[in-house]
Amino acid sequence: MAAHELRTPLTVVTGYMSMLRDGSFGPAPLEWKHPVEMLDAKAAELGRLVEDLLLAARLDTGRLPVHKERIDLAVAAQAAVTRARPRAELLAADLELEATEGLLVDADRDYLARILDNLVNNALTYSRGTAELRVRVLRRNEGPAVEVEDQGRGIPPVLAARIFERFFRIDEEGYPQQPGTGLGLYISRELAVRQDARLWLDWSELGQGSRFVIAFPEPGA
Ligand code: ADP
Repeated sequence: MAAHELRTPLTVVTGYMSMLRDGSFGPAPLEWKHPVEMLDAKAAELGRLVEDLLLAARLDTGRLPVHKERIDLAVAAQAAVTRARPRAELLAADLELEATEGLLVDADRDYLARILDNLVNNALTYSRGTAELRVRVLRRNEGPAVEVEDQGRGIPPVLAARIFERFFRIDEEGYPQQPGTGLGLYISRELAVRQDARLWLDWSELGQGSRFVIAFPEPGA
């Protein structure tokens, strides 16, 4: 309910922001450029938090329809990499895709996109210095899969199981706290399970990096 109520004023804020940007109120003074960009970015951040809260609430009440269709994993991964490219460039991160073509799965296109975006964004967020990311599409023992691997800060072994809990975040010394809700991995795992896929932390070493995997069953005939 609360998340839903937050949506309406936020829509008004973002609406006025875009009118300020496109000059609907006349040309903006040059000094406004930075503050308007800042407000824009923060409104978008708030929007993402609200959407996460809404989605988590929907997952809890079980009201979340899943629409499966036959999807080429390489195409989905390529699209996620393309969406992440602007942010990766902003962070001067190295983002590479290694994809086996033609690995088909039965998945919900939107939810798969959301999961991949979340994994790639986490890999960019929780990196040290220049991020190095590999997104791989491959057949693993568990089935057709996408791996998202970074050489970032890694996850302490004792906390590895907990990162999938709702609202769980790691407070790390020496790292600035990043904006977030601790809902991303919870939502991603729930969305994976609802389309009969599995999502897990495959490997992580402190200071070395992490690798998350989403794997699907072989598609039905
Ligand atoms: P959020 O990013 O909003 O905190 P998530 O559920 O996506 O929420 O992640 C939970 C926590 O797991 C993060 O706060 C972070 O500490 C840790 N984490 C997630 N992905 C990575 C990663 N690729 N490398 C290191 N830590 C990670």
